[in-house]
Amino acid sequence: MSIWSRLVGQQRVVEQLQAAVASAHNFADSNPNAMTHAWLFTGPPGAGRSTAAILFAAALVCEAGGCGECATCEAVLMDRYPDVERFIPQQITITRDEAENLMSLASLMPARSPYRIIVVEDADRLSDVSGNMLLKSIEEPAESVVWILCTPSMDDVLATIRSRTRTITLATPSWQEVRDLLIAEGISPAIAAFAARASAGHIGKARGLATNEASRLRRKEILSIPRQLGDLGSCFKSAKEIVERATEEANLEMDTLDENEKDALMQSYGATLGGRGKAERAARPALKELETRQKSRRTRAVRDRLDGALVDLMTYYRDVLLLQMVGEGAELINEELKHEIMETAHTSTAAKTRARLEAIEKARRQFASNAQPLMILETLTIELARA
Ligand SMILES: [Zn+2]
Repeated sequence: MSIWSRLVGQQRVVEQLQAAVASAHNFADSNPNAMTHAWLFTGPPGAGRSTAAILFAAALVCEAGGCGECATCEAVLMDRYPDVERFIPQQITITRDEAENLMSLASLMPARSPYRIIVVEDADRLSDVSGNMLLKSIEEPAESVVWILCTPSMDDVLATIRSRTRTITLATPSWQEVRDLLIAEGISPAIAAFAARASAGHIGKARGLATNEASRLRRKEILSIPRQLGDLGSCFKSAKEIVERATEEANLEMDTLDENEKDALMQSYGATLGGRGKAERAARPALKELETRQKSRRTRAVRDRLDGALVDLMTYYRDVLLLQMVGEGAELINEELKHEIMETAHTSTAAKTRARLEAIEKARRQFASNAQPLMILETLTIELARA
């Protein structure tokens, strides 16, 4: 089985990448123009753009063009292959230092394969400064370098970068494709179907829902909000609950991560956390810098969870709108809440539902700025109650 079987619902993308791999390996019948040294992988979150990037990297360094079984393929997939660098930004923007580091990684000669591949996930976080730095390497690449930048859409990178990269556009997989993937991974058909529908083509989210009871409960709580909103007090209460829960969840995940990173850093200096010797003093600047980065990562983790909650909430009102437009035959994302959704549909109008969906979209955009999450959510819940 080839490595591409791991990419769901992307037949066209697979064909394009296979052609590039064939040309890179000089396989028979290959089109020499199919391979290039800079790529932009775009597609909605959860469609699998970073998976596609890693599979492509593996196929380029695997002697068999991506068998999915050899030690090379395995090492790339486990992020342990020396010639494939995978950069996942932890902060809201990719810094100058990080860009510099990527450039020096790109300038190394490959150790084992003909290529040195640099995968930059969330490349939409490049600033003008760090983007322009990478541009230099993309414009005049070393012979063996392959850049793969991943972003939600083409417009998320500088036009100068866009014009020098070849774009691969991933589609949102259908819920049936996601369901079948989950079933193949051993999830029961009923839960697979629920998780695939509820996550609207977002594979990681579907997997999380299917395998984690707590996240299913969490989603249920979020979807109960529309029917709890009434007076001002109930709006404030719901807003507060959403923020508190997102913060709790992010903290739970980040605490362990932060501690492990700090331990590793201190060890590299021969120091211990809380110690007061020479080694600890030497480690202090690096520790401070690490803590600053961890803090901004935590802020981002909370925002990501808040955004996830709003995406869930949107599925409720999308279902409401569908019932209002199409009527009872409509196939809902939240089939299990059909009764509640029908009631909301009957007690409001399509215009009101649209206004509510717009209010949620507006709140999601505001998370991207630096506004206070609680204020954004209070405004949102009031708008949802009033619409
Ligand atoms: Zn292989």
